[in-house]
Amino acid sequence: MKQLDDWIKLLTEVIATATSRLPEDVTAAIRAGRANETEGSLAAMALDAVLKNADLACSDRAPMCQDTGVPIFWIHHPVSVSTGVMVRACKEAVRRATAQNLLRENAVDTFSGRNTGTGQAPSIPSVHCEEWDRPEVKIELLLKGGGCENVSAQYALPDGRLGADRDLEGARRVVLDAVHQAQGKGCGPGILGVCLGGDRGSGYHEAKYQLMRRLDDHNPIPELDALERRLLDESNQLGIGPMGFGGKTTVLGVKIGTLGRVPASYFVSIAYLCWAARRATAIVNANGDVTWPS
Ligand code: SF4
Repeated sequence: MKQLDDWIKLLTEVIATATSRLPEDVTAAIRAGRANETEGSLAAMALDAVLKNADLACSDRAPMCQDTGVPIFWIHHPVSVSTGVMVRACKEAVRRATAQNLLRENAVDTFSGRNTGTGQAPSIPSVHCEEWDRPEVKIELLLKGGGCENVSAQYALPDGRLGADRDLEGARRVVLDAVHQAQGKGCGPGILGVCLGGDRGSGYHEAKYQLMRRLDDHNPIPELDALERRLLDESNQLGIGPMGFGGKTTVLGVKIGTLGRVPASYFVSIAYLCWAARRATAIVNANGDVTWPS
């Protein structure tokens, strides 16, 4: 198995991939949205600019946005791989990627207001390790931008203002409200990661993990699959459009997961992701060979 420096090099490569290469399913969804917009409209121009930006970032191996976000790692590993080593490797990879301008100096000490200059601060990067029974290591990374994080939202159901009860219809109402509230902010078209249940912390965490799913996958729970499709359609009928300029392409995908809850609470957490959906996955098998599922 790999040593600390091998992991740092691989994780730096995962960061370089995420920051510079828009996943092909996201590119395809933006192109489909562009084809659907009226020629010469602001929406069409915005999506053309987004696609050009993504192309340039990929060919120059440069960040596709100046806000390179909070790096969030999810690492699944067998018992033979140390959690401590993986956490250290993630932090050092972020420091190196920042020094190489793959990431902006993007971490601020909240008390002093000073930029740490290393891309590192308490909880930045955010690293979540979990041991599993499989022999391979799975590394997943999401670079979560601040502008879209600002318009993420969490609702405690029931919500009398929206007439939202503790059921899927209530969830549908609050998700549409979140899309409405986010209009013109968060660099749309957006992608919605949603969690039903959990507490305030775990709900947002699961909502963000949903953003690692491909846009063209299917939810294994039929009722949630249907809700994802309905919310995608209904969001795109709101007329908000890319960057809030008006148009048909408001949301590129909706991904919904669930967690348990206590009887007293029913949270719906909505993690809003901008068009710059910077996610990357690498799988390292027991021989050390690396594959890159999209
Ligand atoms: S919301 Fe996304 S695209 Fe907009 S500035 Fe932030 S990271 Fe960049």
